[in-house]
Amino acid sequence: MEQGEIDYILRISGFKPGIFPFRYLGVPISHKRMGIGDCTRLIEKVMNRIQSWGAKKLSYAGRLVLIKAVLSQLHSYWTRIFVIPLTVIDRIERICRNYLWSGSDQYGKTPTVNWDNICKDKKHGGLGIVNSRIWNTAVIGKYTSWMAVKSDHLWLRWVCHIYMKGREWYDYTPTVNTSWTWRKICQVMDIMKPGFITGTWAVLPGSYSVSNGYKWLLGQQHPVTWYPLIWNRTLVPRHAFVGWLIVQGRLMTRDRLFRFGITADMACAICSLQNETHQHLFSDCIYYTRCWDLLTEWLGMSIPKTSVVTWYTAWRCPSLMKKQIIGAAIIALWYHVWNARNIARIEERVLAPRVLLRKVKHDIQGRCQERKWSLKMTKLP
Ligand SMILES: [Zn+2]
Repeated sequence: MEQGEIDYILRISGFKPGIFPFRYLGVPISHKRMGIGDCTRLIEKVMNRIQSWGAKKLSYAGRLVLIKAVLSQLHSYWTRIFVIPLTVIDRIERICRNYLWSGSDQYGKTPTVNWDNICKDKKHGGLGIVNSRIWNTAVIGKYTSWMAVKSDHLWLRWVCHIYMKGREWYDYTPTVNTSWTWRKICQVMDIMKPGFITGTWAVLPGSYSVSNGYKWLLGQQHPVTWYPLIWNRTLVPRHAFVGWLIVQGRLMTRDRLFRFGITADMACAICSLQNETHQHLFSDCIYYTRCWDLLTEWLGMSIPKTSVVTWYTAWRCPSLMKKQIIGAAIIALWYHVWNARNIARIEERVLAPRVLLRKVKHDIQGRCQERKWSLKMTKLP
């Protein structure tokens, strides 16, 4: 466009010329490569939420909710406006990861489950956090869908005129002197190509959407057998988090601390009779056996102690409420046994099994009340 034309448009439109990078609703818009410096406001926003006074006091389950809320804002707003550089996404993920495990944005505890696994949905073994890198790709993937279906979109007409100049998107490669944002969009187009082999979105039913693009990018995932036990709605959320770590063998038991060189003592903190492994603590330990017997006595049913996940998955219980209560009670027991182990390790005293069972009962009865189930309905003693 000639300078005279530009001046004329500016005069009649009342717009003022700006220079890159400029801000649109506080978001930097740039044709050049963006880095951490351009996205400080975005990172600050995440840090502010995580460093707030209340956030420091949250349990694992509460932290998980906060992380999901922070990332949801990132995904529903920021990623829709511009391509977030990977260095920035890495930085945000690091803040969230540190916060999940140590309650602070600083590195405090070694993560026991890696971030990619945490980002799987709950049915597939994760915590249901959305993977920001893949989500950003799925959002930018919508430009590929516009190209593939030859949508009559102003943006598409513009890039065809400026960059593609009559070439087909499928074979197009940007030159090195085109803008950073355009090259990023082209990289995503290359990733999305297999999804548009027939010219339309043919991988999942319906037209392209960010959520089905995201699912496709995640690839095939396998459901985990323990999903119904760990994520049933009657569970106390903080119990579910510890249960999720136990079924994966990811609590910091002494055998694992020994392997990491953190302790030289592998003996069970409660009984001292055998090495403290997950198998020992949540199956073989005499303390656990006593607690388990009290639990099954209270519930009035016999449950195999050594293969709980298999038994629970296969159990055809006619009452969903009963099945959820039994599942919640088992995970509550695991949670309190882990707490009893921590007390034994730190304070060198062992909580009496009957006291532990009282805690389990209290939590389960409280959860039933929250769900508006009376004792008569639940048939709990
Ligand atoms: Zn033991």
